Amino acid sequence: MNVLVINCGSSSVKYQVIDTKTGRALVKGKVERIGEGDTTHASAVAKVLEDTQAFEPATVGHRVVHGGERFYDATLIDDEVIQAIEANIPLAPLHNPANLAGIRSAREALPSVPHVAVFDTAFHLRMPRRAKHYAIDLEVADRLGIRRYGFHGTSHAYVAGLAAEHLERDIADLRLITLHLGNGASACAIELGGSIETSMGLTPLEGLVMGTRCGDLDPGAVLALARELGIDETDDLLNRRSGLAGLSGLGNDLRDIEAQAAEGNDRARLAITVYAHAVRRYIGAYAAVMGGVDAIVLTGGIGENSAQMRRRILQRLDFLGIRLDEDLNHDAKVSADTPVVDISEERALVRTLVVATNEELMTARQTARVAGGGTDVQSPGPVPIAISGRHVHLDRASMDVLFGAGSELTVYRNLSQPGQFAARETVTLVGPRGRIENVRVLGPLRKAPQVEISRTDEFKLGVDAPVRASGKTQGSAPITLEGPAGTLHLKEGLICAWRHIHMTPEDAEAYGVENGDQVEVAITGGDRDLTFGDVLIRVKDSYVLEMHIDTDEANAAELSKGNTGGDLLYQPPESAASASLSRKRAR
Ligand code: ADP
Repeated sequence: MNVLVINCGSSSVKYQVIDTKTGRALVKGKVERIGEGDTTHASAVAKVLEDTQAFEPATVGHRVVHGGERFYDATLIDDEVIQAIEANIPLAPLHNPANLAGIRSAREALPSVPHVAVFDTAFHLRMPRRAKHYAIDLEVADRLGIRRYGFHGTSHAYVAGLAAEHLERDIADLRLITLHLGNGASACAIELGGSIETSMGLTPLEGLVMGTRCGDLDPGAVLALARELGIDETDDLLNRRSGLAGLSGLGNDLRDIEAQAAEGNDRARLAITVYAHAVRRYIGAYAAVMGGVDAIVLTGGIGENSAQMRRRILQRLDFLGIRLDEDLNHDAKVSADTPVVDISEERALVRTLVVATNEELMTARQTARVAGGGTDVQSPGPVPIAISGRHVHLDRASMDVLFGAGSELTVYRNLSQPGQFAARETVTLVGPRGRIENVRVLGPLRKAPQVEISRTDEFKLGVDAPVRASGKTQGSAPITLEGPAGTLHLKEGLICAWRHIHMTPEDAEAYGVENGDQVEVAITGGDRDLTFGDVLIRVKDSYVLEMHIDTDEANAAELSKGNTGGDLLYQPPESAASASLSRKRAR
């Protein structure tokens, strides 16, 4: 498929048409000086379309810098998605408006092809909460969306994938530290194929030292600068006059700085050592965060090209198992044909790889996947989770016995599945060993009674309930119910509910699953991350997307009301990845 990839910045538009089958760019170019003379985003995009129409792109992929809390994956653009990107402008005041201008012009000019937004932030959005929160007043942070989002996601995901391929390992089995060192620079810790930590935060200013951006800084220093220079001047200083350029006084091109350092220029030497030191600090931190590391991946203009900087960054890390081969490092040359070069000593425990990034290709692939409607193991977003306490479903006959002839259930609270409700009525469960009182009845009435309890409840009652899907009560366990009007002995009907996900046919298509499938669901971002296996998929038009687990399961994953969201991972029958996932978890 030919995909037009558009990267619309504030002063330039970069574009490529990529054939996703071969991964090759058929044409590429750049329109510069937007905002000068009569060159606008619209006129620049018109020029792009003129240059690329001969290649008849089937779809257009747009780089969008900030997807905020909403976008976990590349997304087909419609008016609503545009509004959501607009809503994120305060988080990326320079980038998102430019990205939007490009999207609007291209959609107008090419209304009949699908347009897809590919977000820099999407890869990092599932970071655990310990990594995404800044330790500031939580209410203020939530109100203003102040948290770590992370950027360069497309590049980190792409080079991690290539590294795993090169090492002939399942990415889910690897702990990776990817270092994107270009004009902008960021580090990422990758576990189970996902980002669990990254050095850029709310904005691309945090973290490593960059070409012109400062990286980590005491917030007190920002306040001191702002007091002295004012907000705008400080913004300009930290974004455009800091980093390698600020330290060296020689501009942001590392080649010039390295040349001057070789001549003895002290500020050039200072810039280089401060830069390398910051990257080393992050390597150490991320190895600690993951409890080890299997491979270091260097990419971006500096990571791919500067052997000297790579050596400075990676020296004296033997204690981590990182051992650089001086000659391999010196000679490493990555290209589109040889995108991965291993520069570690044979006996090194950790592989160190130089990888050529290709954000445009990754953008094109994601665009083709989303535009083509193809499914991927990556879910379209987390699945909301509801925790079911023990409860009872009744039929007409059992209602008559327990609450009196002709009695009706009264609504206590509506449940998320349409038409379902928790009733005011409760019963007592009686087993050989004990009783549980105040067990809620759920309405409306059904064809047959069913009692759903947790494993913990079994011990209290002294019963043995089989794990069953709802409605499959034949041959299940007996139980006695007491109501205000009478006692009911059920020969069968007591089950431990099979954890399941309700979804519509549209959800099922988006997740790439079918009714009756069993999947794995990862709970991440809490204090006791957990992957549930054997989760049953139940598809019906009237369902609302929601995973149902019982209280024991919720406790095991440290979930409580209101902090819910699991990522649907894999479909075990076809997926080798699920097996490796279990291996990884067992480590
Ligand atoms: P961007 O983040 O804008 O995509 P790049 O990934 O192209 O930037 O990286 C640009 C940086 O790479 C510049 O600082 C440049 O000096 C540096 N770079 C490119 N080639 C070399 C080289 N041979 N030696 C040292 N630095 C290099």
